[in-house]
Amino acid sequence: MERFLPAAQLTALADDLAGSCHVLAPVAHAGSVVFRWYRPGMRLEFSRMASTSPKAATFPQTEPLLVAQRHEEHKQPVIEATLPPQARTVVLGCRPCGARGKEIFGPVFLGVAHDPYFARRREDALFISLVCTRPETTCFCSSVGGGPADPTGSDVLLIPVQGGFVARSVTEAGAAFLQHALFEDVGARGAEADAVVTQAQAAMPPSHDFSSAPAKLLARFDDKEFWEQQSAKCISCGACTYMCPTCYCFNITDDDLGLISRRIRTWDNCMSYTFTLEASGHNPRPTKAHRLKNRVSHKFSYYPSIHNGVIACCGCGRCIKHCPAGVDIRAIVHAAQEYAQ
Ligand code: SF4
Ligand code: SF4
Repeated sequence: MERFLPAAQLTALADDLAGSCHVLAPVAHAGSVVFRWYRPGMRLEFSRMASTSPKAATFPQTEPLLVAQRHEEHKQPVIEATLPPQARTVVLGCRPCGARGKEIFGPVFLGVAHDPYFARRREDALFISLVCTRPETTCFCSSVGGGPADPTGSDVLLIPVQGGFVARSVTEAGAAFLQHALFEDVGARGAEADAVVTQAQAAMPPSHDFSSAPAKLLARFDDKEFWEQQSAKCISCGACTYMCPTCYCFNITDDDLGLISRRIRTWDNCMSYTFTLEASGHNPRPTKAHRLKNRVSHKFSYYPSIHNGVIACCGCGRCIKHCPAGVDIRAIVHAAQEYAQ
């Protein structure tokens, strides 16, 4: 199904949706663009890719898993799982790479171990993605299986055309969404939208060939000097992991509040020293070189080797753009590919 959303109705759509569901959208905030839970009055910002990712729609930065409540001191607590309430979430204006991110790491939560928290959020979320017409120098989605108009993980694709957006449904849920009263008949805009998609694909920089990366990274596994060189600039700040739409590591902590305690899951960061620090004091990844080796090799070697060749990176480029030290994951993978030849 194809409908048209006038640009002037975009905010009205977000305002209306916010009245009946959770809306996660890119908004202007202190000179940046970030995903926020949208409320009327916020300013939607579609012209630049958000620095944060839309991952929170399916995998929040912090979420309670269990609540243990003691009704009386020294008595056994009653323990209850705190599954998120069934409520629709609309991610409005994410990029196709961001929508694809959760499809990449989804098998971790929906495979052998079924994670009911991720499953419910995934089921309840509708992804309305904006086709990218101006790739940034840090974008490489088309090198890792995606593209500026890739529909994977989206329910609707918004294609910017004169005066607004042609909205194309990808899923049945997306088609139902397009019944909203603010969408209009698409008229003859379909051909313009096709041309925009073709131009968007043509505007992408040449693709990188990462096909040899899994084997070549593994071949470099014990090369300490290589990984020390690659990680020399890194300051272990963790920005690359926290902004990444495909990183899914987490920590679980218990928050004891007296008669009520909560078990909380929070994003964790494999670039930090404490990520693998054991209670004994031993740390199997004690240096930046160990940690960067793990991050890059996990995404481009271990993950594809156990998930049918899928690279655990959607090519959004956030880790490159926002690294304060200028570490570029593409360059590291290439270095490993070339070094091993
Ligand atoms: S963002 Fe850059 S400096 Fe910070 S941990 Fe990642 S690679 Fe290192
Ligand atoms: S590794 Fe970097 S480029 Fe790849 S998905 Fe994560 S933030 Fe984006």
